[in-house]
Amino acid sequence: MQKRKFKKIMAANRGEISVRIFRACAELGIRMVAIYSEEDKLSLHRYKADEAYLIGKGKAPVEAYLGIDEIIALALKVGVEAIHPGYGFLSENAEFAEKCEANGIVFIGPTGEMQRALGDKVAGRKMATAAGVNVVPGTEDPIEREEDALKFAKQYGYPIIVKAAAGGGGRGMRVAHNQKELLEGLVAAGSEAKAAFGNAAVFLERYLENPKHIEVQVLGDNYGNLVHFFERDCSVQRRHQKVVEFAPSLCITPELREELCDAALKIARQVNYRNAGTVEFLVDQQGRYYFMEMNPRIQVEHTVTEMITGRNLVQNQILVAGGYALSDPEINIPSQGAINMRGYAIQCRVTTEDPANNFAPDFGMLTTYRSAAGCGVRLDAGNATTGARITPHYDSLLVKVGTWGLTFPEAAHIMDRALREFRIRGVKTNIAFLENVVTHPVFLEGKCDTSFIDKHPELLV
Ligand code: ADP
Repeated sequence: MQKRKFKKIMAANRGEISVRIFRACAELGIRMVAIYSEEDKLSLHRYKADEAYLIGKGKAPVEAYLGIDEIIALALKVGVEAIHPGYGFLSENAEFAEKCEANGIVFIGPTGEMQRALGDKVAGRKMATAAGVNVVPGTEDPIEREEDALKFAKQYGYPIIVKAAAGGGGRGMRVAHNQKELLEGLVAAGSEAKAAFGNAAVFLERYLENPKHIEVQVLGDNYGNLVHFFERDCSVQRRHQKVVEFAPSLCITPELREELCDAALKIARQVNYRNAGTVEFLVDQQGRYYFMEMNPRIQVEHTVTEMITGRNLVQNQILVAGGYALSDPEINIPSQGAINMRGYAIQCRVTTEDPANNFAPDFGMLTTYRSAAGCGVRLDAGNATTGARITPHYDSLLVKVGTWGLTFPEAAHIMDRALREFRIRGVKTNIAFLENVVTHPVFLEGKCDTSFIDKHPELLV
């Protein structure tokens, strides 16, 4: 395969990740095309791009970004050579990846076939087992009958987590401590998943007590070369959704780090993985680790990996999709040894949610928006400016605040300072809650597990 430098790329997404992609393109000298829905006609990602086109006229706000045929037709019409799907929306849609390729447009991500092997959590678990990596004890196949769920409970005991095969973003999951909750959970997780993902299949896993969520970033080129970029600790979660992420983890030994990174590469190799992906593990209190799933896309928290490795993952995604080898001087990763980490990076997800009101999303006009800046701070925002209108149509992420320090406490102190520097009025945010998290002694020791927020109600303001 020939390597080619794209001249024009579309970001089939919105918000901060579109802006992130546009920035990578600008650095590479590539022309950028945005798509936007009617509801996003005043959104920043539209104005950051070199060209922007309205899509999904008359469709529901989320549907606009899911119109495969319309997006591909537009891309062909305006001469787009490659499409970056970002995260969410069409990023894990195998049909979209395949239709792009069938129309001669490069999909910046893994092939549809690779996505199918990973996209469903049940398929992913089978694949990990085949690669020789431990998975959380669970059912091999989706649960068809209540008896099968009860049989599993008898064998493994409670607690059990009911998970949607197609789940994501913390949706389609229920924890059960007894038979009643298990039977209710099967129905609730199934119908939630049916509504959100169009697939009601659920399976069971043992629910590990107070684990840590550790994930490994990988990147592959089109020639079978694969590397990892170490791990991220994403244990600070609310309702199984990530709130604060950092890298590297402070709770794993160098030996365990090596094992996790090796296991991640084994899994990626098992499906001949290409482009960027993340292999997620749970690590229990004894340091045993279990594969959860592999996400075949760039993730919200990729920024912390970029900060500790100095590598531009989104640029690298674009280059490998264009047929550049990892060893190409423009990517400059001739071997795993070329990737080093330095210092510590933390990312907080600032959202327009009200912690005092059970994190209900808030809307309206940002009457004041002054962001942090200064030494050690990185910001990734979509529509965050004074006068911007926050609508109820999309997710509530306002700005991702990243900080870097030589030590973890230094990065945390910079984060605390940065969060305090923000002035946001007109719409409620979770900033005060995030300040409580990053100044908490357990957090400062890097010891939070996934139950941290639940166990510390005083964090809520
Ligand atoms: P999603 O795809 O919706 O993000 P994941 O399968 O990645 O869901 O799980 C999200 C979070 O849910 C994990 O980081 C962890 O906190 C919790 N979780 C998932 N499975 C288990 C399990 N078997 N035991 C304990 N916690 C779990």
